[in-house]
Amino acid sequence: LHTSSSSYDIIFGEELLENIHLIKAIKNIKPTKVLVLSDTVVGPLYANTMLQSLKQMDIDCQLYTVPSGENSKSLAVFQEVVGYMLEQGFDRKSLIIALGGGVVGDLGGFVAASFMRGIPFVQVPTTILAHDSSVGGKVAINHPLGKNTIGAFHQPLAVVYDMNTIKTLPKEQIASGVAEIVKHAHIHRPELNHWLIENYHKIEQLDNKSLATMLYKSCEVKAEIVSKDERETGVRAYLNFGHTIAHGIEGALGYGKIPHGIAVAIGMVSAALIGYQKGITPKHVLTHIIEINKALKLPIHLPESIDEQNVINYILHDKKNIGGQLTFVLLEELGKPAIIRGITTSEVLDALQQQKQL
Ligand code: NAD
Ligand code: ZN
Repeated sequence: LHTSSSSYDIIFGEELLENIHLIKAIKNIKPTKVLVLSDTVVGPLYANTMLQSLKQMDIDCQLYTVPSGENSKSLAVFQEVVGYMLEQGFDRKSLIIALGGGVVGDLGGFVAASFMRGIPFVQVPTTILAHDSSVGGKVAINHPLGKNTIGAFHQPLAVVYDMNTIKTLPKEQIASGVAEIVKHAHIHRPELNHWLIENYHKIEQLDNKSLATMLYKSCEVKAEIVSKDERETGVRAYLNFGHTIAHGIEGALGYGKIPHGIAVAIGMVSAALIGYQKGITPKHVLTHIIEINKALKLPIHLPESIDEQNVINYILHDKKNIGGQLTFVLLEELGKPAIIRGITTSEVLDALQQQKQL
């Protein structure tokens, strides 16, 4: 990936955890210390393998484990990690390796962005979804009033994707990750969805080669968009397709109650309905978005327990809203997103009511 601030490799393969010490980006910077940040599910599964490999570099490596789940993207956990690093004498030349899903990647990246005003970090994603979060340098934690509202742009030194880690990922998390790939397809490369449907069986079976191809194709879309607009002043905002409602759903249910990508899958249907109502999204695009979700076993309805008004309350805090009006990414055509401002809360409520009838 090339951005205006840096260039780095996204490496796909097998047994990369075992060989992390051979990754050039890590070897080259000769860190004083390494913090492997992981969570309580991923740490016990994979941290040891990685630490064994790092040992061969003769550097002080330490593991720090945070609770698994979205709640670890909090100021409290952020403070604990930074506190630990200060106590343990981490310095400006230390390295963070984020070993886990998007939560660990976002948290680890944000710690790296702020510790001593910024230290290097490497992303080692272990979920499908994290192909999206690990590429592009957006790092953040949540405030109780809004998701990802405390963050920075901080590019990793490298993204190292070991397909073998996907083997232990729960089914629902696979579906969640696939939803972000569907999003990349809808906004930029519609043919990718045909590939997904054709290869769905192999993906479900976690065939390493198919997984790597899928992740490569999706990272390509992400990298292409981010390289044009690293700091989201323009086209990068298209990546938020489906995310306004998704963040509303995640907020209304309570963080971590629904996998992020599952909320995005639902949010893409909402966005298609809003776009259709406004005469921006053609009927065939709306139908296509619903059909793709169905074909990939992704939901099209909001969870039943949810109060639509609560979703609206949350989206009023969305970063994409400027000057009090709701802003959405809507599709004018497959592969052709547009930023639409001035959407009213009653238009959104209407769409959410209609979504119930689908
Ligand atoms: P996650 O990190 O919480 O992982 C999901 C669950 O799977 C967790 O319980 C985790 O412990 C477990 N897990 C992870 N890897 C595993 C493995 N290999 N085997 C077994 N279990 C495993 O969630 P996620 O879906 O990876 O990421 C979601 C986060 O990513 C959200 O906070 C979202 O805001 C963020 N995100 C950020 C960006 C960005 O650009 N920075 C983009 C998209 C999403
Ligand atoms: Zn997302």
